[in-house]
Amino acid sequence: MSTVVEHVACSFCGCLCDDIAVEVEGAHIVKVKRACSNGQGIFMDYDPRPRRPLVGGEEVEWDAAVAAAAAILRAADSPLIYGLSSSASEAQRKAVELADRIGAIVDSTSSVCHGPTGLAMQAVGEPTCTLGEVRDRADLLVFWGCNPDQSHLRHFARYSLNAKGAQTPKGRADRTMYAVDVRETGTTKKADHFLQIDPGCDYEVLSTLRLLVQGGEPEGETVGGVAVADLKELVERLKSCRYGLFFMGMGLTMTAARQLNVAELFTLVAELNEYAKCSVIPMRGHGNVTGADQVLTWTSGYPFAVSYARGYPQFSPGEFTAVDMLARRAADAAVIIASDPGAHFPRPAAAHLERIPTIVLDHGPSVTASHATVLFPTAAYGVDAAGTAYRMDNVPIPLSQVIETGRPTDEDILGRLIEAVRT
Ligand code: SF4
Repeated sequence: MSTVVEHVACSFCGCLCDDIAVEVEGAHIVKVKRACSNGQGIFMDYDPRPRRPLVGGEEVEWDAAVAAAAAILRAADSPLIYGLSSSASEAQRKAVELADRIGAIVDSTSSVCHGPTGLAMQAVGEPTCTLGEVRDRADLLVFWGCNPDQSHLRHFARYSLNAKGAQTPKGRADRTMYAVDVRETGTTKKADHFLQIDPGCDYEVLSTLRLLVQGGEPEGETVGGVAVADLKELVERLKSCRYGLFFMGMGLTMTAARQLNVAELFTLVAELNEYAKCSVIPMRGHGNVTGADQVLTWTSGYPFAVSYARGYPQFSPGEFTAVDMLARRAADAAVIIASDPGAHFPRPAAAHLERIPTIVLDHGPSVTASHATVLFPTAAYGVDAAGTAYRMDNVPIPLSQVIETGRPTDEDILGRLIEAVRT
């Protein structure tokens, strides 16, 4: 006998599509409707079998695992807490509380994706909006350094290019799309206009757009590989559209100039509002990476790379970012929550992570989990645990529990660790 749970949010990517239907039989998911192929996996590939925690690779009781983890944290001089982006905001809050309690550094996967976006936002502000506004009103879309055709598979259909809204009843036919990238992608092929820029030239092209908005005239016929005539045409469209929208990705944040690229884009968007409504939304990847920024900012004032070592929060990207902490061997223990730095970090950082004691909270296997000193097999938010995640436009979305497995959540385990390190 199966039941269907409607209006389930998929927690895989920053779209957090909340129209998913999940059919369950007991503790097993048997069918998923409306999720894309990425989203299907988090439901259909989920292994609901009960698992016990491991200490040194041996199964132990939960109390023993908590005691072993607390002993590691009490003995550490410079513990690191990292991950957070595939967990719920309730657990992220507990992670910050634990960091405060033990004087740890806390960092999220933002530091290896949109960290520069947070720095730019702090420097110049972020003129942004919700995806609902995009769907209802935006008639000019510019995708810059991102490829949602591969990374956010339902973005076009639900929120942007093809979505039908109050002022865009014909969907695709009511919109003009630009794509700016260094190479052809699935996204650039869908665009009406593709501006192919030379690698590393985003800043020059963005500052030229600002110059053109202000009525200036650049020297030469091309900038960063793009014809000035094409940039002039884009500026005219941006000035005369009903609602222009920039979506920006790691093509801006993880290339030369990083936060300066993003600050230049945010400033351009702010200046365009003298002529027409215009906004920007960063294309956030992990399901709740936006929540990690939100929670860290509520609690410490800073979005990532925060140290509580001195008893108060300090912010220092490049110093307290997890890659840097590990690469210079500055962390002597780590709590890794719902992420896999062992698989994705540069080799010197990943190698140090293998050398130090690690406490891993994750619902599935990973390279990091395979090296864990203490492994807590927790529930997956949005599958066998309820919680809250923030969509890429900073709208909080409830995650449902669709099956019951009895596994503790990340929040449960972090709460127990906070209690245990006190004693
Ligand atoms: Fe899930 Fe993202 Fe696909 Fe939506 S686009 S179903 S949130 S993976």
